Amino acid sequence: MITHDIIVVGGGLAGLRAALEAHLRGADVAVISKVHPIRSHSVAAQGGINASLGKDDSWEAHALDTVKGSDYLADQDAVEVMCRDAPGRVLEMEHWGTLFSRTPDGHIAQRPFGGAGFPRTCYAGDRTGHNLLHTLHEQVMRAGVKIYLEWLVTRLVVDKGRCTGLIAMHTPSSKLEVFGAKATVLATGGYGRIYQRSTNAIINRGYGISLAYHAGVPLQDMEFVQFHPTTLLGSNILMTEGARGEGGYLYNKLHERFMSIYAHDMMELAPRDIVARSIQTEIDEGRGFEGGYVHLDITHLGEKKIEERLGGIRQISIDFAGIDPVKEPIPVQPGQHYSMGGVPCDVNGATPLDGLYAAGECACVSVHGANRLGGNSLLETIVFGKRAGEHAAGYVAGIAMPGESPYLDELDREKEAISQLMGEGGENFAVVRDELRSVMQQDVGVFRNRTGLQRAVDTVRMLRERGRNVRVKSSATSFNFELLNAIELKGMLELGQVIAEGALVREESRGAHYRTDFLERDDEQWLKHTLAYYAPVGPRLEYKDVTITQFQPKKREY
Ligand SMILES: Cc1cc2nc3c(=O)[nH]c(=O)nc-3n(C[C@H](O)[C@H](O)[C@H](O)COP(=O)(O)OP(=O)(O)OC[C@H]3O[C@@H](n4cnc5c(N)ncnc54)[C@H](O)[C@@H]3O)c2cc1C
Repeated sequence: MITHDIIVVGGGLAGLRAALEAHLRGADVAVISKVHPIRSHSVAAQGGINASLGKDDSWEAHALDTVKGSDYLADQDAVEVMCRDAPGRVLEMEHWGTLFSRTPDGHIAQRPFGGAGFPRTCYAGDRTGHNLLHTLHEQVMRAGVKIYLEWLVTRLVVDKGRCTGLIAMHTPSSKLEVFGAKATVLATGGYGRIYQRSTNAIINRGYGISLAYHAGVPLQDMEFVQFHPTTLLGSNILMTEGARGEGGYLYNKLHERFMSIYAHDMMELAPRDIVARSIQTEIDEGRGFEGGYVHLDITHLGEKKIEERLGGIRQISIDFAGIDPVKEPIPVQPGQHYSMGGVPCDVNGATPLDGLYAAGECACVSVHGANRLGGNSLLETIVFGKRAGEHAAGYVAGIAMPGESPYLDELDREKEAISQLMGEGGENFAVVRDELRSVMQQDVGVFRNRTGLQRAVDTVRMLRERGRNVRVKSSATSFNFELLNAIELKGMLELGQVIAEGALVREESRGAHYRTDFLERDDEQWLKHTLAYYAPVGPRLEYKDVTITQFQPKKREY
């Protein structure tokens, strides 16, 4: 058994920031990650990170934009904390070495982003995540924090109502090991890959979120799934909102800048839920191009600016679609992008389970409510990563390391569960997974209605049954990807079920959850967070109030 005061699950921005903070506060902390930290999805973030650095900007203005963007479902006390902490966290990253793009007079440059009343998004070209993640990885290495690479966490250990560590599989050897900890921080990112079309890395399967679900923690607001308006046709790789921030236009096949109909003032820079629905409407009503897409045109920005600010998306367009955006418009369509819901926690990362913290995309603080603004997710990782690390360090200072015995039972249970997966016959994980992705895409997408959602709920229930029959034929003992996929599939199916059931029951339209059979937001009935508790057949849904401080819900207009 391996022990540390604190184990952080996940080597993305949230995990590394939490680990660094806990270390700086004197705790013995380790990071465990299924991939090398710099392969975490954070590395792919393009457009930027929000902070009210401008002299005419303020954290209050940032908070208002965030709350309005969230369609009033965000907890306003948490939003205030995030927006207040933002400038300090971003400048700290700069001092640690992040090379942000600059203004001519040497300040950190900021670009306009969707739903923001001010150019507030700091960026490093269109490779902001890459720059931030490498900076934090350097800091964590400098601090000498132990990193367990290529370990898949398969189970949390809960003893007498407290999370006391976890079980993980070392993927190069397929060995299971017990990790004891006084506190565990989940920083496992999103679940994009339960959808067919997603901008997310292939590793983003949400397994970390399902670990908490199984440990008895309810999942919050899972029906709110963000679809990014502009993903590259074919591969669905992200074409950053920064492209519109820098002045890009959206055109339908009639060469109309159609956003003028849907968001007269903010046009292409309306929040993502609105732009994604607008594009989908154009496509559905026959004004998109054949194959289901519209054009994102940045040709008028000129080669110099494109190279300087959007060099990454230029290269991606050339490599993956054979299109050079300097000369031609980019074919784009909406795709799953971000998980607004997740493991509920307070502004210090504490979840309802003693000893368990959460931060980053897997968490639901909730600062994004029903729709996240671009640039607020990178921000969330470093603001709440730091806070979770700080509070976990305080928590472990006063308590003893748990004894060994409860872990051994859990280890036996896990060994048994994995041996049951092995064998001939049964289903192949990929067949079940692809059916899940297809139903989620079809029926729990940008537009939803009762018939589709009911079909999704029924299908996912059936797929969960079939999922129990998945068998792993490969007996490889090193990097057995069939086994790893089969393990994670179980979590994907459960999350799909939670999302679909939550969406079916929520009879209103709010942010990214848009019901064609309930077009209006219904604050009387639905200004509340969903909590989904694990039960063997499917989630038990409960609700809790939204915290409102200074911004009373209003109609959202852009
Ligand atoms: C293409 C793209 C571009 C984006 N651009 C922006 C942007 O410009 N601005 C913005 O604000 N947001 C952006 N986002 C969103 C933002 O990048 C993410 O929400 C954020 O980086 C998530 O960070 P994280 O640390 O929570 O998780 P991740 O970076 O996803 O890291 C998750 C970590 O958890 C580990 N892990 C997961 N499960 C397990 C397990 N069971 N066992 C062991 N380890 C596990 C993984 O190995 C990984 O290290 C973008 C997202 C995408 C997909």
